[in-house]
Amino acid sequence: MRELFQEQLQALRARSLERRLREISSVQGPEVQIAGRRLINFSSNDYLGLAGDSRLRQAAIGTIKEFGVGAGASRLVSGTQSPHLRLEAALAKWKGTEAALSFSSGYAAAVGTIPALVSKNDIIVLDKICHASLIDGAQLSGAILRVFPHNHLRKLENHLEWARREHAGKRILILTESVFSMDGDRAPLRELVELKRRFGALLLLDEAHAIGVIGPNGRGLAAAENLIEDVDVQMGTLSKALGASGGYICGSRSLIEWLINRARSFIYSTAPPPGIVSAALAAVNFLGSSEGEERRRLLWERVGLMQDLLPRNELNEKAGVANSAIFPWIVGDEQAAIDLASALQMEGFFVPAIRYPTVAKGSARLRVTVTALHEEDQIRSLCRAIKRLVSHMS
Ligand SMILES: *Cc1c(COP(=O)(O)O)cnc(C)c1O
Repeated sequence: MRELFQEQLQALRARSLERRLREISSVQGPEVQIAGRRLINFSSNDYLGLAGDSRLRQAAIGTIKEFGVGAGASRLVSGTQSPHLRLEAALAKWKGTEAALSFSSGYAAAVGTIPALVSKNDIIVLDKICHASLIDGAQLSGAILRVFPHNHLRKLENHLEWARREHAGKRILILTESVFSMDGDRAPLRELVELKRRFGALLLLDEAHAIGVIGPNGRGLAAAENLIEDVDVQMGTLSKALGASGGYICGSRSLIEWLINRARSFIYSTAPPPGIVSAALAAVNFLGSSEGEERRRLLWERVGLMQDLLPRNELNEKAGVANSAIFPWIVGDEQAAIDLASALQMEGFFVPAIRYPTVAKGSARLRVTVTALHEEDQIRSLCRAIKRLVSHMS
């Protein structure tokens, strides 16, 4: 048995695809401590710097003092405590939907919700580079899957025509993300809404990397485009820009009531700890405040600076306006991406190399993420280092 896994690991290593954990011995922030060294951190999704924020810490501590640590049971048994309901009311109000439901993670939200929406004989049409949680949820549902090339509306339309023709009367669910996690670009939401309306499909939009970053009060892409009413299922995470942990679904009251009855990851799992739920609520309240807007403005200033300074080459020529806080820097070869990340680490920067199966084979990349708390000089020095290292590589 042991040999079997050793061989498999060896095979991964040989293809530069092995992954290992690294220990961060500090709070999350623009600098982290790894192996006894302070590194400037361009790896996290804590876009607004809330993971270590004192307001979130105080909210969690206060709730732990009042409610304890564990929730004790699943939500439907006796795990629904006041903080859960307060968070869900705040999420619905903030997103402008009738209701909201929180999950223990964004992943759990996806794998619980998608199979509750469609089943065998229904159709799911999803973007080729959708997040693993959406793919896993789609597979769990047992529905028939069709994949369209990334953001390719014409191909999506073909699939929808096919589904309506060959599977008349069946439910069709479109899955996509507002900001794609490894590419940083956005979905053409307006056109997607037009298509879903024309074909009578449902649309689930995963706002994981848009929440806190895009739209009024960081309410995401659907809010920014004034399409709240047209996105049937708004999914997101409390674990990224919101600095806490958990996932959510926002939508109509009947959708939420259905999920309470059918989403297995919600029903058969202990409720999230009340302390973490209160921290997420503090983050939602912060986003709605003028200080939250100021923090978001600061983030976009930093995004603009990164956009201006990050060197380009033929693999990375996407110019123009930055669409998110995620900057992929494509290297191609897996080992070359690892080498570049290691070289950056030697110079004091932590930037992760992202490889297959997170991205397609041969499209390995650095994934640089900017946060509101980065100093301008930290961004400048990273871009200088990348420029220098890359010119030595080629
Ligand atoms: C991170 C992520 C998730 C999962 O959210 P977690 O709260 O981390 O489980 C889902 N979808 C996308 C697009 C993500 O990037």
